Amino acid sequence: MQYRDFGNLGYKVSALGYGAMRLPEDDSGDVDRDAAVAVIREAIDSGINYVDTAPTYNRDQSEGVVGEALADGYRERVWLSTKNQRVNDDPDDWRRRLEASLRKLRVDYLDVYHMWGISWQQFEEHLAIKDGPLTAARRAQKDGLFRHLFFSLHAPPEDLFKITDTGEFVGCTVQYNLIDRRNEAGIAYAAAKGLAVVIMGPVGGGRLAGPSSVIGDLDVPAASTAELALRFVLANPNVSCAISGMSNLAQLRENVATASRTERLSAAELARINKNFDEYEKLAELYCTSCDYCAPCPENVAISRVLTLYGLARVYGLEEAAKKLYYDIGRTGFYANMNDAAACNACGDCVEKCPQRLDVPAELGEAHAALGDGRKG
Ligand code: SF4
Ligand code: SF4
Repeated sequence: MQYRDFGNLGYKVSALGYGAMRLPEDDSGDVDRDAAVAVIREAIDSGINYVDTAPTYNRDQSEGVVGEALADGYRERVWLSTKNQRVNDDPDDWRRRLEASLRKLRVDYLDVYHMWGISWQQFEEHLAIKDGPLTAARRAQKDGLFRHLFFSLHAPPEDLFKITDTGEFVGCTVQYNLIDRRNEAGIAYAAAKGLAVVIMGPVGGGRLAGPSSVIGDLDVPAASTAELALRFVLANPNVSCAISGMSNLAQLRENVATASRTERLSAAELARINKNFDEYEKLAELYCTSCDYCAPCPENVAISRVLTLYGLARVYGLEEAAKKLYYDIGRTGFYANMNDAAACNACGDCVEKCPQRLDVPAELGEAHAALGDGRKG
């Protein structure tokens, strides 16, 4: 395992972190606790020293299972991270959520605690108000309930700069991968300011997990798309750690092998990758941009999800991964309560709202034809 400076914290963190958001599940969709404990412990035995969870991961079961895995001396071997999502501005509620996480994890303190999924507006108008959540955070830190305050972000890239500039955080967790490089400048800025930078979704939340003829043509040595995706993120010197949600030992072992390589992608390989992905991105922008202006659909079709997956297949050649994720719509995960494209009745409501002027029902029909068969990956 390779280790890197963890911002200005004076510690080394493993280049690969364990993200406990896709723990192995049984047929009912609950966490398979024995399998999950085994994979987390092997991760730590393989040299991973950063474990990240959150209260709602894996149907609210992740923190409890991570707590189980960290018994028997494993706790002392890792940086343990979890998160607090703003519900209101009440500092006591914020503290109660922190204490609930500590109880589920069965620990006295956290190494890293995140203000979860924040935006600049939320920080300014809610978190940083007088006697609000930030005040509660500083009090809890003083009481020894956590060591370092981080933030995570799904907001526009410019928010990363603004929140870094507040000086309130010593680290951040942000999205960055081959098909979403929007935070690259913000990551460089945060690292230059001494923040520890943790990357979530280095394999695009599973989107880069399957083979791709397009990416395979890049002439970069990598055994799989997932390996190339992880190598791309780790080639960025501003990244401290990339957390990947690994559901089984095979994925874990492949990622550990990748994160243990001492040689990084060369400048020429990176230039080739960036040039090609700039072109793919331009092509992808001709299609659905996931703006969600068309939502909600009266038939509860997950329009932007379906069309984004279709884009993965037709622009990036990631058909296998797109089919697997399409299959999950209406069944499991974030889109479990929505419908796939088969539910579209062509009412046309979405068409007039779409700034891309897409013929959405026709695109959905094409997407269903392309992704809706043989999809049980
Ligand atoms: S055309 Fe289809 S996707 Fe669009 S709003 Fe109507 S039912 Fe929903
Ligand atoms: S409005 Fe158009 S571009 Fe935006 S999510 Fe809907 S289909 Fe995609």
